Amino acid sequence: MSRIISICDLLDECYGVKKWDGGLPLLDELIYTILSQNTSASNCNRAYKSLTDSFDMWDAVADATVEEIAARIKVGGLANIKAPRIKNILQQIRSRQGKLDLQWLADLPDEEGMKYLLGFDGVGKKTAACVLMFALGRPVLAVDTHVHRVSMRLGLIGNISADAAHEQLGGIVSADRVYSFHLNMVAHGRQICHARGPKCSECVLRDLCPYWAANKTTKEAGCGETY
Ligand code: SF4
Repeated sequence: MSRIISICDLLDECYGVKKWDGGLPLLDELIYTILSQNTSASNCNRAYKSLTDSFDMWDAVADATVEEIAARIKVGGLANIKAPRIKNILQQIRSRQGKLDLQWLADLPDEEGMKYLLGFDGVGKKTAACVLMFALGRPVLAVDTHVHRVSMRLGLIGNISADAAHEQLGGIVSADRVYSFHLNMVAHGRQICHARGPKCSECVLRDLCPYWAANKTTKEAGCGETY
C-alpha cells in the first residue's frame, strides 16, 4: 500500500494535485465522453462544440437523423459509429425516464450509477467511470490507454485488459486520490511513459518501476516496448 501512496505523491509533486471542482451536467458529460472515444481531446472538443452549437436541446439531437448528427460531429472522427450511438442513447433515456435528464443518477451509489450507464450500447467501463468521475467527482477510477499502460509497467496490475484493470486499480488507489491519480497518470503517459520509447531516464517514478529495473542495464533511456 505504501508504494501506491508514493506513486501518487510523486505524480502530484510532478504534475500538481488535481481537485475536482465541478463538471458538465451528467447527460452532457455522457455525450462528451462518447465523442471522446478514440480521438484526441482537441477533436472531441470541436465535435462537442459543433453538436451543441447546432442543436439547442438534447431532444433536438434525439429527433435528428443519424446523418444530421454525423455531419455535426464528423470533425471528431468515427462519426458513423458515434452518431447512431448518441441518438440511440438519447432515445433510450427519454423512453425510460420520460425526459432527457440524468441528474437523478447523482442520488445513486457509484455501483448503481455504473450499472445504469453500462446498460447502453457503446458505453463501457471507461466511459461510465469518466461520466461519474468528471460530472460528479465520484472516486470511480477510469482506466484509459495511458493509465492502463503505465500501471502495467509500474507493476500495479498484471498483464490484463483495461476493462479488468478498473476493479484492480480501483481497489488500490484510495478514494481521495482517484481524481488526481487518473489525470496525472494520463499526463505521465502522454509526456514521459510513451507507448514506444518511454523516457525512463526522465521519469520521477523510475525508482519504483519494475519495468525500468528490468531494462535499465540494456538501455539507459527508453526501452521500446509497446504495452
Ligand atoms: S520508469 Fe519508464 S516504464 Fe517506468 S513509469 Fe517511468 S517512463 Fe514508464
